[in-house]
This record gives sequence, C-alpha cells and structure tokens, in this order.
Amino acid sequence: MKKPFAMMLCLTLFVMAQAQHIDYKTYFTPERLRVDLVFTGNAQTQDVFLHSLHKEPLWAGSKTVLIAPFDYGDCRYNVYSTQNVLLFSRGFNSLFAEWTTTEEALEKDKAFATSLWMPYPKDTVWFEVSQRVSSTGAWKALKRFRIEPTDALIRVEAPVCEAEALIYNGPVENHVDLLFVAEGYQAHELEKFKQDAARFAEYLFEYEPFTSRKADFNIWILPLESQTSGPSFPQHGLWTQTSLYSAFHTFYLERYLTLPDFSPLGKAVSGAPFDALFVIVNSDIYGGGGIYNYYGISTSDHSLSKEVFVHEFGHSFAGLADEYYTSDVAYIDMYPTDVEPWEANITTLVDFASKWEDIMHLEGVGVYEGAAYMAKGMYRPAIDCRMHTNNAPAFCPVCQRAINRVIDSYTK
Ligand SMILES: [Zn+2]
Repeated sequence: MKKPFAMMLCLTLFVMAQAQHIDYKTYFTPERLRVDLVFTGNAQTQDVFLHSLHKEPLWAGSKTVLIAPFDYGDCRYNVYSTQNVLLFSRGFNSLFAEWTTTEEALEKDKAFATSLWMPYPKDTVWFEVSQRVSSTGAWKALKRFRIEPTDALIRVEAPVCEAEALIYNGPVENHVDLLFVAEGYQAHELEKFKQDAARFAEYLFEYEPFTSRKADFNIWILPLESQTSGPSFPQHGLWTQTSLYSAFHTFYLERYLTLPDFSPLGKAVSGAPFDALFVIVNSDIYGGGGIYNYYGISTSDHSLSKEVFVHEFGHSFAGLADEYYTSDVAYIDMYPTDVEPWEANITTLVDFASKWEDIMHLEGVGVYEGAAYMAKGMYRPAIDCRMHTNNAPAFCPVCQRAINRVIDSYTK
C-alpha cells in the first residue's frame, strides 16, 4: 500500500511544483479576460452559470504570482490547461455567498451576477469555480467551463470611462493598483470625486503598513458620471439613478451599503488597470461594505468616512475578518467552532499554528475571546484594532502582517 501513496505524493508535489513556476508568456497574452457569471440558489444549494466572456485591454495583475499564495475566500476559481496544469487561481467572496447565509435564503431562490478576471489565455483552458463547505472548510467544485480564447463571441471591450492616475509609482504588473470608482456623482460633481479620492488615498497611507508600503501602490480613479447624486435608500423609498445602482439596506440592514447588481461595475472598469476596486459613494450617510477580492464601498462625507473606508478596505483587500462580536448582522450561519476559519486575524484555536502563534511575543498581540460576531469560541489577536472599533488608531500587528503579505503578492 505504501508505493501507490508515495507515487501519489510525488505526483502531487510535482503538480504543486509546476503550479509555482507558470511562465506567463507561455500561457497568457498581455490582455485580460472578464468572465461574467451568474450564481443561483438558496441556503441549501448553489449553482453557477456562464453568462458571457469579454476581452479587455490589459492584465494589470502580477505576472509571476499567478497561483493565489493564500487559501483565502469562501469561493475560488482555478484555471487549468487542457493538460490539467493549474495556471491561475484566486480566492474571493461575493454578495451571493453572503446572501446564502441569511434568513431570506432559507425560503427564496435568487440569482446574482458576478465578474471574475484572469489573464487572457493563449489556448483553451478550463475555468473551475469552487466554494468552501463551511462545516468542514474544504473546497467543493461547483462547475467547470471550457473557454476557447478564439471564440468569435468573446466581446472585445473598449474602455467605458478612462481611468486617470492619481498616484503612479511604476509598472502595473509589480505594483498594487487600487482603483477608486465614482458612484453617485453628477457631471458637475466629478471634480469633487477627484478631491474625495485624493483624500481617501491620504487616509489609507495614514495607517501602517500602508504608510511604509506607499511606493508599492498606484492609485487610479475612474470618474464615472451618474444622472443623480447619492445612493438609493430603499428603506425610505428613495431611489436614485446612478451608474452603479448602489443602495443601502442590503439584506434589509439599514447601514449595509453595496452594489446589489455587480454587472454595471464589471462593465465600467473594463479598460481600467486594477488589482483592487473601491467604490466611493457620494453621500454623507454612515455606511459601507467590503467583500474580499470583490470590491469595497463606502461613503465620501460622513465624519467617520476615514475609519469606515480603511476598515472596509481591510476586508476587501486582505480578507480580514471583523474583530468585533456585537453587531446587528443578517447572517444566521455563523462560523463553526471546530474548524479553523480562513481569515488571518481570527482563530478558533483549532489550528493556531497557522495563525499568529509565531508572533505571540510581540507587544499588543494575544488571544482575546470574542470576534467575527461570536462572543464565544472565536478569538482575535488584540484588544483593539482597525478591524474592531472605529476608535482604534491602527491595525493590530497580526492584521498588519496579513496586509503586508497581500501587498507582497502583487509586487514580488
Ligand atoms: Zn487586527
């Protein structure tokens, strides 16, 4: 029995070794492929369908870190060659994945559009979408799509709106390209958007590790014009006509501001370079959201806009979990306490060695019960952190390390 196992192990190691040395130019062109999908289902069962494929001008991500170095996200997409070599992968969260954990998903079926991006393949590839089984933490493949890059129906996109560089520090392929997207700004307010985006960039670089890593970032802005100002407020029957249809009251939670339909954002950023998307909504009302490797969103002019933006960016950029545990959330499906969660800044202590056990000696680092909406059985690394309260002056050392590692994955 030992031999087959040893062979399997060798084969696994061989595939892994191969996966780490994918030569970009062998498999991909300089362009970007947008894969538009529709996720459907409810709390019990989920499915995913291919909607359309789009060829965009430029892949702005890393050309060396093609396989995600972190096992982050509630969802994942893997791209395989026809010889089954893993060429590219990314973890992500989505509004659909969040919705499946709400009470509404127990009794309704819904569909959510999503866009995912990858470098444009030279040859036929398999695009596999998986989701994490929350009770075990293991991956389950939902579906595989065969993508032929020569397919005549792949729509060639031209930029909907030209992105402008706010801060440019170097080539997109080895810098973090953060794109601020305007939402709810009328034509005469686009100058305000540029000032708001510049202010948000300053906010970000006030916090470590972003301060020290500023030279690793390019900041881009997308001045999208809306017909009317501000987001929609469904709870008050107030609907605006904006480019991205942003709305409060997501999942019936008053402060939860999102883009209930992803499609307009996917189209809007067609021509823009980005590794991370952040939508700035022209409003002085408190609110926002951040979904890992998907987008972050918050309002421009509330007195806590800085704190909310940096917190939501912690979610959307680095997959950090909320370190607080008292809050009005819509989720009924909480983390199981016998599985180590994937987020870097929370632990159930099931596999603490994979978290911050190695830096417990650092000042301000410990194990504090209460995190991720759970008072018991879930632990956070610090008494306070930007992922815990709006008063926290900094990210805790564990969050800072996690953010640094994500920055490295775009710059190395
Ligand atoms: Zn933290």
